[in-house]
Amino acid sequence: LTEFLRLYIQELLIDIRLIFPGMLVDVPLGTANYRLQATTIGGFHADPSLTSGEPMAYDVNRNTELTFARDEQPAPSGPTLAKVSYHEIGGLEKEVAAVRETVELPLTRPELFHKYGQRPPRGVLLYGPPGTGKTLIARAVASETDAFVTCINGPSVMSRFYGETEATLRRIFSTAIAHQPSIIFIDEIDALCPKRDESLGESEKRIVATLLTLMDGCADESTWAAGDQGAPRLVVIGATNRPDALDEALRRPGRFDREIEIGVPDQQARLAILRTFLRRIPHSLTEEDTAGIAAAAHGYVGADLAALCHEAGLRAIQQQVEAPQTSPGTDGGAAPGLDLKVSAADLRYAMQRVRPSAMREILLEVPKVYWRDIGGQ
Ligand code: ADP
Repeated sequence: LTEFLRLYIQELLIDIRLIFPGMLVDVPLGTANYRLQATTIGGFHADPSLTSGEPMAYDVNRNTELTFARDEQPAPSGPTLAKVSYHEIGGLEKEVAAVRETVELPLTRPELFHKYGQRPPRGVLLYGPPGTGKTLIARAVASETDAFVTCINGPSVMSRFYGETEATLRRIFSTAIAHQPSIIFIDEIDALCPKRDESLGESEKRIVATLLTLMDGCADESTWAAGDQGAPRLVVIGATNRPDALDEALRRPGRFDREIEIGVPDQQARLAILRTFLRRIPHSLTEEDTAGIAAAAHGYVGADLAALCHEAGLRAIQQQVEAPQTSPGTDGGAAPGLDLKVSAADLRYAMQRVRPSAMREILLEVPKVYWRDIGGQ
């Protein structure tokens, strides 16, 4: 009960706790007209022309009904992600090819599917540990297809207000359809669409059902009609670390038609990822140095390798600052910092500070076993 709205009716004070959209406030007064004042908190108001936080005043009598609505939140507008090219993704060739196959054609050539009586794929689910490049792939696909992109994060769309999460989802889908071809990227989709078992509350179940209906494309026929051949050019990319926590209905054809695992990179993939980063920073590493770091970086995911390069860069700067300044030549010499290069030693030093997150998770998951629990000898 954190949100509340106070209604002052003359000297009478009515405290209405937890106002939600669509709520009717019945004013229990006599026949006389009263002046009702209210201050909105959290963007609730009964007058669409008012914005959040403004005081409002109404002349009311006992027949007055005020319906409170929440401020209309604009749907997140895309593209909100910085453009990324496929070259910036290290490794993951097969995975990227699979995503492109599923996402690009329905967005750019939907007529091909219709011609052969096929239903274009509606969604693709990327699953795997954090930091392995799921968002990066979604960003690259979005950049390459020039689609309208809406990015949402499962937990942050969840609202404690009745019906609001569903309304937000509907708004996001209808905005995406209005701007098609569109991609909706839902990170941490397990928060929005968990398994519908007994432990799940009614409101959570309704959110799952809404997302399923929206993905089926039959929530509002009139919005759908705007699409080519009646079907919107819209693809949903979901990302999760816990595919098993997702509601099964979401994983059926017509919703997430394809599931692609984005796993912890092996040595070869780590080398490819390191190369993508090293292309962007001045360095003095030989091919052997890079291969050596990739081999030693067991358990590091892409995000760890990015952190590693960042840390190595910081060390290189630190070393440069601390190094005794060479006396400038007759032409003034090189300005300090201009020949700054990340070395293999910087990367090895960084490896002591940046630990692999995949290993951390594995270590955390290992249950403790005591000698006394081992039977026999
Ligand atoms: P996820 O969505 O799987 O949690 P992200 O895609 O957000 O992970 O990755 C975080 C960062 O890690 C990226 O912005 C990128 O810098 C780096 N990264 C992760 N995987 C790769 C990869 N395969 N190639 C290049 N960079 C990567």
